Amino acid sequence: MEQNSNIRNFCIIAHIDHGKSTLADRFLELTGAVDKSKMVEQYLDSMDLEREKGITIKMQPVTMHYKGYTLNLIDTPGHYDFSYEVSRSLKAVEGAILLVDATKGVQAQTIYNLEMALSANLEIIPAINKIDLPLARIDEVLSQLSDLLGVKEDEVFKISAKTGQGVEKLLEAVIERIPPPSSSQEKRLKALIFDSLYDNYKGVVAFVRVFEGEVKADDKILLFASKEQSQVKEVGIFTPDFKPKDVLRAGEIGYIATGIKDVSKVRVGDTIFTINDINYIKDFNFLKPLEGYKEPLPNVFMGIYPKNPEEFDDLKNAFQKIKLTDWSFHFEAESPNMLGRGFRCGCLGTLHAEIIVERIKREFGLELLLSVPQPVYKYITKDNKEDYIYSPSQWPNLAFIKEILEPWVNLRIIVPSQYASNVYQLMDTLETKEFKDIKNLSSQTLLMEFEVPLREIIYGFYNNLKNCTQGYASMSYENIGYKKANLVKLDVLILGKKEEAFSKIVSAQKAQKEAKNLAQKIKENIPPQLFAVPVQVAIGGKIIARETVKARRKDVTAPLYGGDVTRKMKLLEKQKKGKKEMQKKGRVRIPYENFIRVFTQE
Ligand code: GDP
Ligand code: MG
Repeated sequence: MEQNSNIRNFCIIAHIDHGKSTLADRFLELTGAVDKSKMVEQYLDSMDLEREKGITIKMQPVTMHYKGYTLNLIDTPGHYDFSYEVSRSLKAVEGAILLVDATKGVQAQTIYNLEMALSANLEIIPAINKIDLPLARIDEVLSQLSDLLGVKEDEVFKISAKTGQGVEKLLEAVIERIPPPSSSQEKRLKALIFDSLYDNYKGVVAFVRVFEGEVKADDKILLFASKEQSQVKEVGIFTPDFKPKDVLRAGEIGYIATGIKDVSKVRVGDTIFTINDINYIKDFNFLKPLEGYKEPLPNVFMGIYPKNPEEFDDLKNAFQKIKLTDWSFHFEAESPNMLGRGFRCGCLGTLHAEIIVERIKREFGLELLLSVPQPVYKYITKDNKEDYIYSPSQWPNLAFIKEILEPWVNLRIIVPSQYASNVYQLMDTLETKEFKDIKNLSSQTLLMEFEVPLREIIYGFYNNLKNCTQGYASMSYENIGYKKANLVKLDVLILGKKEEAFSKIVSAQKAQKEAKNLAQKIKENIPPQLFAVPVQVAIGGKIIARETVKARRKDVTAPLYGGDVTRKMKLLEKQKKGKKEMQKKGRVRIPYENFIRVFTQE
C-alpha cells in the first residue's frame, strides 16, 4: 500500500508562453512516464486549439514515478477567464512551481496565479525558464522574484525547459520542499472534483483529488452540490491516459468514472462522497463538503447567428454537443427577429467565447456571425429580488427596480516604466475607473492596479493597451463583484416598430452619443425603399435620436409629358397612399448581411 509520505501533488503556474507545457514534457521524459518515441511536443495540451493558441484550457493531469515517489502533476489553465478552475485545481495540490520566462520577466498572470497559489497555502518553488536564450535577463528576473516572494536569490531555480538544463534538480526540489498530503483517519470518501471529461462508455469522468477515505469500482457515490447519486464504474490514475486501479485513497489524484450521463451534474469544485452505508436518507445535512464550491456563472454574453439562416438547427446541435464537454457555456435560442434566428450565449469571458466560436467552426464546419460581447448585468427589484440580464431583451421595467448592477474587476497591468504615462492616458479614456496602486516590480518594471467595470475592458481594451506600450504590457483581471451602475437600454424602432435585436445596454452618460451612432449605422445599412424609413432610438419610450432613410423615388409622373396637372396630382396622391399602405404593413426587407454589419461592428 502506498504511503502518503511518498506522494507529492503539484502544479506549474506561469504566464502564457513562459514554458509550462514544455517543462511538463521534460518531467514526463525524465520520469519515463511517456515513452520518448511517443513524445510529441507539449504532450499534456491535448486539444488542437490549445496547441495552436498556445494556451491551456483544460488541464491534463499525470501521475509520474520517480525515485520511489509518486508525483502527481496537474496542469492549470493560465487564463483569468478560467480563474475558478485555476483556484479549484490549486486546492487539489500542496505546492506549485512558479515559472517565469527569463526574457520576459514577471508578467500579469504570474502575479495573478501566484496570489491564488498563496491564498491556497501552497508551497511555492520559483524557477526562471529559458536561460538558454541569449536575451535572457536572468539577474533582473532573479531580483523580481526574490522581491515578490521574499526569498533569497539562490533559492530560485534556473532552468531551460527546452534543453533540460536544471530540470532534474527542480524535480528533486518538488520532492524535498513540497509537503506530502496529510493523511486522514476518515473512512468515508471526500474527493474534490477539479475537472471532468465526457466519455461515451464511462459517462462523465470526474478528475479528483481524494482528501479523505477511499473509493473503488461499484461504490455508491453522492455528488454534493448537484445531489446526483450514482455507482462508480471505474477508478484510476492518469499516465496521462486513463489507467484503471483497484482503489483511490486519501492524498491521491486520479479519476472516478461516475457513469453519470449529464455533464451538468459533475461540477468543478463539488465534493464526492461515498454513501454505501446509507440505505435511505432524506437529507445529507450531516455530510460536510469541501469548502469553496461556486456555480460557474457566465460573465459575458453575446449573440451568435448562423451565417446561413438555414443552419439554425445545425448550430443548435453544435451547441448541445459543446455543452456536453463544457458546462460553463450557456446558450438559449432567441425569438426570431430581423436577424433571423440565433442564440444568446453566456461565456466565462472573451477568451472562452473565442474558444467556443473556434470549436464550432472547426468541429462542425459552421460559419457564424457574432455580436459584440457584453457583460452580464444584474438588477435588484424594489422588493429585493435579484436577477441577471443576459440579453438587452431581459432589461427590466425600471418602475419596479431599485438598482442596476454591473460586474467590476481588479485590473493589473505590468509594464516597463517608460510606458507608464501612456497607460495613464489610456485609462483616462475610460469613463469609470478607480486608481488603486502602483509599485515597482524591479527597477524597470511597474505594476499598476485599477478597479474598473468589466464593460470598459471587455472589448478592444487589451489591443489598445498593447498598442500604446509597443506590445510590452501584460494584463490580468479578476472579478471583485457587482457594483451599482448607471446604465440605460437603447431601443431601436424601425418604421415605428421596436426591433429588439438592435437594442443595446449602454452607459447613461454616453447614451446620447451611442444612440446617434446606432441610428446612423442602421440608416447606412438599410437600402432605400419606395417609402421613407424612419429609424429611431429611444430610452424608455422617449426618442433621443432619429435618422431617416430617404425614399427611392420612382417618378410615376414621368410618362405624362407636359400635360394635365390634375392627372399628375392624382397619380402622386395614389402613390402617396400606396406608400402609406406599405408603411403600415411593413417591416422593411433588409439584406441579412447589412443588418449583421450594424450588429457586429463597433
Ligand atoms: P506555456 O504557454 O507556458 O505552456 O508555454 P509553452 O511550453 O507552450 O512554451 C512557449 C514557447 O516557449 C514554446 O515555443 C516553447 O518551445 C518555448 N520554450 C519553452 N521553454 C523554453 C526554454 O527553456 N528555452 C527556449 N529557448 N524556449 C522555450
Ligand atoms: Mg501550454
